[in-house]
Amino acid sequence: MRSVDVVIVGASLAAAAAAKRLVDAGLETVILEKQLLPRHKICSGILSPRGHRFLLENFGPLPRNVLHEPTSCRGVTFHFPSMVSMSMDFFGGTTPHLHRKHADHWVIEQSGAEVMDDTSFLAQRELDDHVVVTARKRGGEAFDLKARYLIGADGPVSPVLRSLYPDYHKQIPMFFVGQKFHEIIDCPLDEAYFHFWFHPDLGHYTWSHARDSRQIVGVGYKIGDKFHDRHLHVARYFEEKHGVRLKPADDDHEGCSENFGPSLINRYVFGKGRVLITGQATGFLNMIGEGMSCALHSGAIAGESVVDAMLRNRPVQDIYRQNIASEVRRTTDQWNPLKIAFARPHEADFPKALMEMPMGDRIKVMRDIWSFLKLYKEFRWGRQIMAISAQRLLHGDYSRKNWL
Ligand SMILES: Cc1cc2nc3c(=O)[nH]c(=O)nc-3n(C[C@H](O)[C@H](O)[C@H](O)COP(=O)(O)OP(=O)(O)OC[C@H]3O[C@@H](n4cnc5c(N)ncnc54)[C@H](O)[C@@H]3O)c2cc1C
Repeated sequence: MRSVDVVIVGASLAAAAAAKRLVDAGLETVILEKQLLPRHKICSGILSPRGHRFLLENFGPLPRNVLHEPTSCRGVTFHFPSMVSMSMDFFGGTTPHLHRKHADHWVIEQSGAEVMDDTSFLAQRELDDHVVVTARKRGGEAFDLKARYLIGADGPVSPVLRSLYPDYHKQIPMFFVGQKFHEIIDCPLDEAYFHFWFHPDLGHYTWSHARDSRQIVGVGYKIGDKFHDRHLHVARYFEEKHGVRLKPADDDHEGCSENFGPSLINRYVFGKGRVLITGQATGFLNMIGEGMSCALHSGAIAGESVVDAMLRNRPVQDIYRQNIASEVRRTTDQWNPLKIAFARPHEADFPKALMEMPMGDRIKVMRDIWSFLKLYKEFRWGRQIMAISAQRLLHGDYSRKNWL
């Protein structure tokens, strides 16, 4: 059986950031990716300023082929049922509009790790001082790798997480997000912005933006509803209320499951023993579903924690949980009503944009946000958010007791 220092599952942003730290420290690192690279990834590709800085500092200037048209994004525009719209620019200027297929492949190559693509993680078992990872190349036989540590950077439905906690995904609400692509007849939505609707009748997550001369119409809702009906409803609303005239959707629509929720209530999963979970698999997701910056940062922290654990001969979970607390604060602060009101936890200035509006519009916006939040009432997050916000206020941090 081949023996390596670290196996990482998933060849995406969290994996690349973890691999960069491990390879830089001289550790033999193998990445397993179930798809053939470069692989498609469903994503709007709107990178936050913090994510952009991470890429520049760790992987260098971005090549042109990792960008969609328009190549950059100025910020976000929120739309409300009362027909008030508010645009907010990102702090520090525009950010790149990433083409995930090529951007992810580029960072994985830049990390310097060995990649086995078209190869799925199947199982793991931890023995005294190592983990045996079982994987299979498509059409081939299953094989084992012996690793000192395993990092699950395998996204929202994380098979590595499931190998540790088989029932976990049944315990959290899972959402479906899907997007369709339309040729544009006439679209008054400013293509320099990512557009998001706080509208309870449209669904839990409704968005639109321009990409490569087409318009994306995206919908998100609790698993169990009908994608095509939901999409049609939203496309009709866009036409009726915003004058967005689009041709019927092209055939290449797509969707996936999302684990939205854990970062709101500080219920992250960081792993067990020599198995670390990182990126969106842990539950990291920023406001309006921005997950790339926290995937990159948490991945880097996972990699650093393994390096530290080996150098200091200490349990990796202790180090990881200590180090990851800063990323937990950043992400969960984005959902903390006290932080939103008084501390500017986001990378665009919502309170400033709100205060620049006439008083009547401000009242409409606050009322519309309140009715939108009621859509989430069934998940019973409200009381938990208030409790952890109080904890953050009184103790300066979020408790680690909620983490798995
Ligand atoms: C529709 C949509 C739009 C989004 N828009 C934005 C946006 O505009 N901006 C933003 O910041 N974020 C956005 N996000 C979120 C963002 O895409 C994720 O948060 C981010 O990609 C998470 O990165 P990750 O590295 O943790 O995992 P992922 O990018 O999910 O990658 C996981 C990898 O693991 C691989 N894998 C899974 N199972 C196995 C297995 N058994 N064996 C081997 N490999 C496996 C997968 O193939 C994949 O390559 C969006 C998400 C969706 C769904």
